Amino acid sequence: MEISHILQSWYEENRRELPWRDTHDAYRIWLSEVILQQTRVAQGYDYYMRFVKQYPTVGALADASEDDVLKLWQGLGYYSRARNLHKAARQVVGQYGGLFPTRYAELIRLAGIGPYTAAAIASFSANEPVAVVDGNVYRVLARLFDVATPIDSTAGQREFGALADALLDRDHAGRHNQAMMEFGALHCTPTSPRCAECPLAEKCLALAAGTVGERPVKAGRVKVRERHLHYYLMKRGREILVHQRGANDIWQGLWEFPVVEEGAAEALAIKTAPTPPLFTLRHQLTHQTLTCDFHVVEVEGTTADVPAGYEWLTWEEWQKKAVAKPIFMANERFSAFF
Ligand code: SF4
Repeated sequence: MEISHILQSWYEENRRELPWRDTHDAYRIWLSEVILQQTRVAQGYDYYMRFVKQYPTVGALADASEDDVLKLWQGLGYYSRARNLHKAARQVVGQYGGLFPTRYAELIRLAGIGPYTAAAIASFSANEPVAVVDGNVYRVLARLFDVATPIDSTAGQREFGALADALLDRDHAGRHNQAMMEFGALHCTPTSPRCAECPLAEKCLALAAGTVGERPVKAGRVKVRERHLHYYLMKRGREILVHQRGANDIWQGLWEFPVVEEGAAEALAIKTAPTPPLFTLRHQLTHQTLTCDFHVVEVEGTTADVPAGYEWLTWEEWQKKAVAKPIFMANERFSAFF
């Protein structure tokens, strides 16, 4: 309990003032948590403000089309988060009459909400005594208790979950969780923890053992897959041929130019003369490295065969579609043609 009290007083003095911090509105807390997963606060801030403005209630978000939600999300990456956001909004309207749930047991059943997000919403909005364990919390715990169990192992998840729970101030669960996370984000940082001026220095076992730099331990990295994509800007006057990506691959529901993947069994049903790429963009996803070659093909006449799922759009109509980052960057280069 003493550790929690020290952390909470540190938090009161050092916390960042953020628009989702002082609300108990579960909808807004959920929005901020989903946006901030894998996103820096500085970038997430703008997106949060835009979402709250466009969709001030969960009902408004549920009424929107998935395309509109994806468009507003554009640039944040990890698009499954946006699709789940939309799905969960519809679940809240369908199952809870638009009143956002605040209990862990209900939250965990909504689309895209895992143990971390459910604990964050339940504790921040209703003070339910459940401990959050995110990357920052793993690091703080691994150092405070000098734990060498890998955080990405099943044993590690169990051990860290139990530690987080034992440390929780059950009467002030929301503030305790915020303090743990903020302390990891601002003070006990991955590469330059400020041990010399740390209020927990006397209690920190990794500091005493000289192992701060080795904590937390990670078991292993996931292999990164290399993919090579050829994109074709099929241009007919001011129109271009585009399609929406399907399920079971990256960027589901986002729009793009016709694409052929090297080594893929399925070829594009459009005949393209071999052309050298106009430019190449590299893009890094969590488990994939993409090399995207962009080609331009002028299409003559008006009767070009349109394969199923493809459509011709004017360059202006195309700008309204939600696209992944490499396509967004290619659009900027291609705009010179229109
Ligand atoms: S002493 Fe250093 S490693 Fe330990 S909690 Fe403080 S900042 Fe983190």
